[in-house]
Amino acid sequence: MQHYIIAMDQGTTSSRAVLFDRQGNALAQHNIEYPQIYPQPGWVEHDPAAILGTQTQALRQLVSATGIGPQEIAAVGLTNQRETTLLWERDTGKPVYNAIVWQCRRSAPYVERLCAQGFEQHIRDTTGLIPDAYFSATKLAWLLDELNLHARAQAGELCFGTVDTWLAWNMVQGRPHVTDVSNASRTMLFDIHTMDWDDTLLRALHIPRAVLPEVIDTAGVVGELKADILGAAVPLASMAGDQQAALFGQACYRLGMLKNTYGTGCFLLMNTGHKPVASQHRLVSTVAWRIGKTTTYALEGSVFIGGAAVQWLRDEMGLIQSAAESETLAASLTDNGGVYMVPAFTGLGAPYWDMYSRGLIMGLTRGSGRAHIVRAALESIAYQSVDLVEAMARDSGVRPKELRVDGGASANGFLMQYQADMLQTPVVRPAVTETTALGAALLAGLAVEVWPDLAAVSGIWRQERRFEPTMPQTARDQALLGWHGAVARARSRAE
Ligand code: ADP
Repeated sequence: MQHYIIAMDQGTTSSRAVLFDRQGNALAQHNIEYPQIYPQPGWVEHDPAAILGTQTQALRQLVSATGIGPQEIAAVGLTNQRETTLLWERDTGKPVYNAIVWQCRRSAPYVERLCAQGFEQHIRDTTGLIPDAYFSATKLAWLLDELNLHARAQAGELCFGTVDTWLAWNMVQGRPHVTDVSNASRTMLFDIHTMDWDDTLLRALHIPRAVLPEVIDTAGVVGELKADILGAAVPLASMAGDQQAALFGQACYRLGMLKNTYGTGCFLLMNTGHKPVASQHRLVSTVAWRIGKTTTYALEGSVFIGGAAVQWLRDEMGLIQSAAESETLAASLTDNGGVYMVPAFTGLGAPYWDMYSRGLIMGLTRGSGRAHIVRAALESIAYQSVDLVEAMARDSGVRPKELRVDGGASANGFLMQYQADMLQTPVVRPAVTETTALGAALLAGLAVEVWPDLAAVSGIWRQERRFEPTMPQTARDQALLGWHGAVARARSRAE
């Protein structure tokens, strides 16, 4: 009778709900955008009521549009934008401020102070993260300081949460104050070894334990949704950060399996098994999920400019009409003709971490044309991903057997083939590319035993297309040599 699972996907620009059947097919979805608030340069906020309102509406409208009854829904799962920080009154549920979004840089001075006080190594060792204002810790410290809330926080009058916590508190009966381990591991307050909040960092930032949520499993019944949301109680059975949900949705359940999401930027995550890996390449070590008593960890790295390089060709340079046109143009050439582009528009991330490098196009000759530049942009997405995969392989000591892909630019066949060639590893695109929502649905289904175990969940994942590496090793080595030469020239300083 319970044929369906619904994933709620609370993202940075929109709230979505996606309906899945027991075979993991995405049958329908509903998406609602909501406003971004920019009070000052570098500051980004969301209205907590808008997050809750659009997510609740997306869920309701999906159910009413598809005409299914609440008794047909086995469970609802939740995945969310990570690190975004909320603080509200325990008594009234009223937020004390807007949600401070992950992109917001306002608490950067707190990070500088922590590093000046010698906490950098402690943060890396305990939380697996690299000190940054991106994570929740300093956003919460800023709220407590700026709004003068220390006494109230100490007295237990306030609740801190990330978006999962906020939605569970408001949507689940009995107001649970909880966060799952994958979201907790993005706060920069959570010890990923002991799986508890870290007292040293709490003290350093003057954050009392009384504001913190209870940390729970990624797959597990949180409680029943309030009956007024869908007209009957349905269990909320998973909570996961969006990138971790995508790793789960790509069925990367074994050590060394990895996925790359090709969106505006690229997000690469590798399953590193049941122990966190200390990265030698400034990658982030994070909790992927905890199911039952078992914790699985991941290494995470991102490319700042991925699909955004293609947008730049279209919107700023006018070299292409559509993102899809980049594929035909790039494939019209037999090779790159020695032309390389380093899209370091906002500096270079892992493994380079050079915030002051800037973009370049090099190797131009009189014979270079539009196709060369377009191809160089697509190739740069693949090269940057190779650099990350190589760093992950060295950190974890595991050579990946394949790369699973999703995101807008994974539709580009040229890019995927080139990625396989550069990695010398097959690239596999799944049938369902809504992997974030699928991951939340699979985790929820696992919790309510729609599927008995991970092996059964693995069977849901299906491949759409596999790109096998075909390029000769010498051509591949030559291309990577050209890329690394170009990166060296884009650097702000010599290594
Ligand atoms: P996000 O979630 O970051 O908004 P999406 O997964 O929706 O990203 O992907 C959008 C990105 O993918 C854009 O940067 C766009 O330029 C790129 N993109 C979309 N289709 C293609 C294509 N066929 N070839 C190359 N890039 C593409």
